[in-house]
Amino acid sequence: MKRLVVGSYFDGERHHADGPYAILHESGAILGVERVEGGVDARDGAAFAMPSLVDAHVHIFLDGAELDPARRKQAMAAGEAESLAVARTNAEASWRAGLGLIRDAGDPRGINHAARRELAAAGHPIRLRSPGPALHRPGRYGSFLGAAIAEDSDAARVVSELCLDADDIKVLLTGVIDFASGTVKGKPQFDEAAATAIVAAARRHGRPTFAHCNGPEGLAVAIRAGFDSIEHGYLMDEESLRAMAGEGIAWTPTLAPVAAQRHLAPDVSGFGPDILACLDTILARHAESILRAAQLGVALYCGSDAGGQGVPHGGGLVDEMLLLAGAGVPMETLLAGATALPRARWGEPASLIRAGEAFDPVVMPHSPFLQPQALRQARRPHSGDR
Ligand SMILES: [Zn+2]
Repeated sequence: MKRLVVGSYFDGERHHADGPYAILHESGAILGVERVEGGVDARDGAAFAMPSLVDAHVHIFLDGAELDPARRKQAMAAGEAESLAVARTNAEASWRAGLGLIRDAGDPRGINHAARRELAAAGHPIRLRSPGPALHRPGRYGSFLGAAIAEDSDAARVVSELCLDADDIKVLLTGVIDFASGTVKGKPQFDEAAATAIVAAARRHGRPTFAHCNGPEGLAVAIRAGFDSIEHGYLMDEESLRAMAGEGIAWTPTLAPVAAQRHLAPDVSGFGPDILACLDTILARHAESILRAAQLGVALYCGSDAGGQGVPHGGGLVDEMLLLAGAGVPMETLLAGATALPRARWGEPASLIRAGEAFDPVVMPHSPFLQPQALRQARRPHSGDR
């Protein structure tokens, strides 16, 4: 039996502050957690432990650290072997940053499925959930991520086919935010009837649904259709938040990709002062909505949109968590949204730090309850921990 001694820990749901505690484990399983006397060995750098992290929104085939627009465009059109190599590197970076589960949010060529297959075949300890392509309307936003549904009557058939190989069903319900005007581009791609048909078909196959959705019009459709989670959700409003809390619809607010846009060098983004001011307004408003969501008890997922310009895999999730903390989300709430909460809602193994669970923690040299920045130093415990 081995012992990992920490000063305090978060078990996936609750904070245990007054340690030290010994996490007793053997052969990858936790036997128990007990209070112990004495101090924590500072050289071990394991003052705090929590379950490995979950990123609820990534694009595994894209390298978020690549900022150059021309090279990003090339990467979208790269061959399958090249894209799969990028995905492999991204999965590895995620693992090193302390992630144990990542959910892809769509790519048109199924690199996500291929990467999932490869990781599983290699026995890689990170698990990738994959939706395959994201669903959208022909000629509307999303051709770079997905598959098109032309007629509503096709929805059930297309979703059923995707469910043969998809862990989740991803829908592009609206366009993106126009940074010049601060409004959503275009009308929702799917109306309530079409969105409801997609959700119902996915549910028949036991698959969670998640909707890329910005603005009140799209949010109303997503909420009435009953998606399991709303992604991005920029231009969120009080009425939608109350409905989401009531209906148990989760929110992945993805502050990181817009914050990354805000901080791109001007020669890369081409943004002038007006757009930067608009981005500041969008981000400030979004942070307020996220705090309100936490107050109302909306289930919050931590999702980085890694792969987006300026959002690296692994580190992007920590950026997102620190942005959520900065918005005022209580640390316990946001750590749950990056561990046990999405796992439970997606039917994944819980991975709590409790007797009987898998031993899959990350450790850091300080408690994020005292120093949120400690999340940047998350790592796997040394294999020889006592
Ligand atoms: Zn995305």
